[in-house]
Amino acid sequence: MAIQTTADQGFIRKLNTAVILDYLRRFAPLSRAELAARAGLNRSTVSIIINSLIEEGFIQETDLQNAKVGRPGMLLTLNPKGGFAVGVEIGVDFISVILTDFVANVLWQERVVSDPAEDQIHILDGASELTQKAIDMGTEQGLRPLGIGIGVPGLVDLRQGKLVFAPNLKWSNVPLRLMWSQRFELPIFIENEANAAALGEYYFGVARGKDSFIYLSAGIGLGGGVIIDGKLFRGSSGYAGEIGHMTIDPDGELCGCGKRGCWETKVGPRAVLRRVRKILTDGTPSLINELSGGNLDGISFNNVVDAANMGDTVAVEALKDVGKYLGIGVINLINIFNPELIVLGGALSLAHEYLLPVIKEMVRESSLTPPCEHIEFAASGHGSDACVMGAVALVLDDILREPTSLQHIT
Ligand SMILES: [Zn+2]
Repeated sequence: MAIQTTADQGFIRKLNTAVILDYLRRFAPLSRAELAARAGLNRSTVSIIINSLIEEGFIQETDLQNAKVGRPGMLLTLNPKGGFAVGVEIGVDFISVILTDFVANVLWQERVVSDPAEDQIHILDGASELTQKAIDMGTEQGLRPLGIGIGVPGLVDLRQGKLVFAPNLKWSNVPLRLMWSQRFELPIFIENEANAAALGEYYFGVARGKDSFIYLSAGIGLGGGVIIDGKLFRGSSGYAGEIGHMTIDPDGELCGCGKRGCWETKVGPRAVLRRVRKILTDGTPSLINELSGGNLDGISFNNVVDAANMGDTVAVEALKDVGKYLGIGVINLINIFNPELIVLGGALSLAHEYLLPVIKEMVRESSLTPPCEHIEFAASGHGSDACVMGAVALVLDDILREPTSLQHIT
């Protein structure tokens, strides 16, 4: 029984440690007394944990005035020098790696173009080299490594740390965690890119303080990350959030997944380009022609957004048209999840000025349905870095939340 009691005490201590770290992440600077009150713990328990966290370098005392109680008092914050995290994004046509300290200040980052037609091993070697570079730079700064997070554009088996299927890369069953752990002796977290990005927005972006929200990630495909009660909703096997493959037109276009009329065939940047090309084929004048050098096949999504920003009607109308289809799916999601915020991320966030008003109007028209009332909308705070910052969040989330994960560090 004594052993059991000791094990329980150790577990409770870790749990309380995670609670204190999480409060400091969200509300710092805080005094010991405020921490004890918020966490519902007695002051001596808090003091013991705080002293040990200061000794371990995860938190620090600041000499800020304690304005809340009108007198000087030592306040506590997370210590940026508590360690470094590496975030990796394996995109469809790029690799992005970021190095941050313990409070997610970016210390270094690099993004390189990759070609999905290239050998998988070649692309992964490139990502692994950049990871090594980030680790070397973090170590040079005298920080300890906390872990590596990897975001990928596909379905992930969380238990095995495996990329099960990435339709736009045409990769399947890639044991990423195993491959990375053969080179790096660190905790390694693999996650779907939209889930990672949602977590990144929750920790360091526009969704801070929002415990229930949906992140829509529209790049080549359309993914979603759903945060419920402050946690990623992963479903029974980790595959939740594949919102891009909701059928909204059974007779529609063939999707990369093999089905017809999936939401992503109607709303991604590809859908915008298809609309624009169709209009321009008729010879309709548009700034898009000039921006793309008159080559219909060479039009990029950025060309359309640039033209819209210059007041081009064809561009604005194509974006608004796609906004309507986005609105249909968003209302469905709102009715299912009752979130407080919808975040538009990925390439579509570049066009949020045109898309969000259309979506908001459609949602407003549905506002007789209670879930549609009081909902907020925002564009991603990290733009194209949303996923790679989310990969960093995976590492910090594990340390700040999981009572056992400090074991490998402390
Ligand atoms: Zn599909």
